[in-house]
Amino acid sequence: MPSERKQNIVMFPFMAQGHIIPFLGLALKLEKEKGFKITFINTPLNIKRLQPSIPPSSSIRLLEIPFNSSHLGLPPNAENTETLALDLMLRLIESSPSLKPAFEELICTLVNEQNGQPPFCIISDMFFGWSAEVAHKFGVFHAIFNAGGGYGMAVFHTTWLNLPHKTMTEADSNDFPLPGFPKNYRFKSQNLPGHQKAITGPWYFGLEMFQEWLETDAMLFNTVEEIDRMGLTYFRQQFSCHVWSIGPILSPLGSKARGGKEAETTLNVCMEWLNSKAITSVLYVAFGSQSAPSESQTMQLATALEASGHNFIWVVRSPSSFAGADRDFKDNEVEWLPRGFEQRVRESGRGLLVQEWGPQMEILSHASIGAFMSHCGWNSVNEALSNGVPILSWPMGAEQPFNATMLEEEIGVAVGVANGSDCEVRHEDLVRKIELVMNGTGKGKDMKRKACEAKEMIKSASKDKKGFKGSSVKAVDEFLDAALQSWNRLQRSQEMSCTL
Ligand code: UDP
Repeated sequence: MPSERKQNIVMFPFMAQGHIIPFLGLALKLEKEKGFKITFINTPLNIKRLQPSIPPSSSIRLLEIPFNSSHLGLPPNAENTETLALDLMLRLIESSPSLKPAFEELICTLVNEQNGQPPFCIISDMFFGWSAEVAHKFGVFHAIFNAGGGYGMAVFHTTWLNLPHKTMTEADSNDFPLPGFPKNYRFKSQNLPGHQKAITGPWYFGLEMFQEWLETDAMLFNTVEEIDRMGLTYFRQQFSCHVWSIGPILSPLGSKARGGKEAETTLNVCMEWLNSKAITSVLYVAFGSQSAPSESQTMQLATALEASGHNFIWVVRSPSSFAGADRDFKDNEVEWLPRGFEQRVRESGRGLLVQEWGPQMEILSHASIGAFMSHCGWNSVNEALSNGVPILSWPMGAEQPFNATMLEEEIGVAVGVANGSDCEVRHEDLVRKIELVMNGTGKGKDMKRKACEAKEMIKSASKDKKGFKGSSVKAVDEFLDAALQSWNRLQRSQEMSCTL
């Protein structure tokens, strides 16, 4: 069994918090529950930052892959999307194949260290589909761990691959069919983000990436079968590899997953503040690790939070137009917040402003949280639903608008407040939506009930007790069995070639 052999699993996430965090969660799970050794690869600055967050009980090996951002036209030391504006974020994504030779060299070194024994399997990011070719060169089983959910990634895949909105007829102007989805399924045009509607030609990097996905042996989704079946079915029909839903993988490290000294203090401040508030009375507002509303939207949001009368915690990042240049709003008046806002919020005790990064996992699991205004990054969605928290959705890009569509139309746990950082947002509308979700009656009550149902489904999927294995537990077992079979085949063929 793998636990006795202590085989090595190599994991390589893309350089973004929303990818590194679930990968680390999966790494700790495979180490603790299944007894694997883990080699976790990333660029030097990300590895340095991860080092202090690895628990003393873990022997995860962090391994640096050489990376020079300046050679790729990125600012010096730009190794994580967190500090990059959208165009540079895209450049970082699109430059990922340049890591391939160094990755191959690292695998070669690992094989040599183990006297010719290759790793048990390689789990790579969806942006690193090219790593399947490297894995197969060494005869190693390859899986892509997709940081997104089934539905969101399925719509992302089919819309970028087939551009269905480009060929739509007048009859389709309000909604249109999605290739690969059930025949009677119609996708609302309004849910397609502006930049995708506006495109005039293919996204070449995307097409190449989708092509590379065809080479992998397995796709692992950080989602739950029972709440995300339509998207998972899409992938099972479009790809011949295994497709398993193994989520939600939530980092057991919580806010420590990002590292940094301030994290502990911020956590204490947030918990103390939340402890002083009534159950489900607080709106949590955060837009993930790499996006933020624009300057004017931030102004409207601040005005709405003040006007709404509800308690709130807001993780404030500099507006998208200021990306990469975080500004301290606590000591300075900034042009994107109403004059005196910070002071009024502090003195009223009704709000808590957290600069740049908040302990999200811990905040969302606190009983005082009533709703989450979120950009619907998939980790945030998993973290909200695992705690039965309904969502005010404000997607910012990537597959987030599709996650929001699923949350609102398929599961009924969300209501949309805005889409993107370039749409017009009015504070009166925000106040209305906040009231709808936070007042605990009518639609808001219904959303809360559905969020609690989703929480139960998620719990059940991860249950492994008294002879019952939930769907995600079974999926992890099936994945490891398939990798083991491949590993055994490789061992036999190596033995045979030695005896010949
Ligand atoms: N996160 C956090 N504090 C913050 C912002 C984000 O802990 O202030 C964590 C969040 O809990 C989640 C991840 O960072 O695990 C963000 O991933 P997500 O997929 O939600 O969004 P992305 O950052 O990839 O857009």
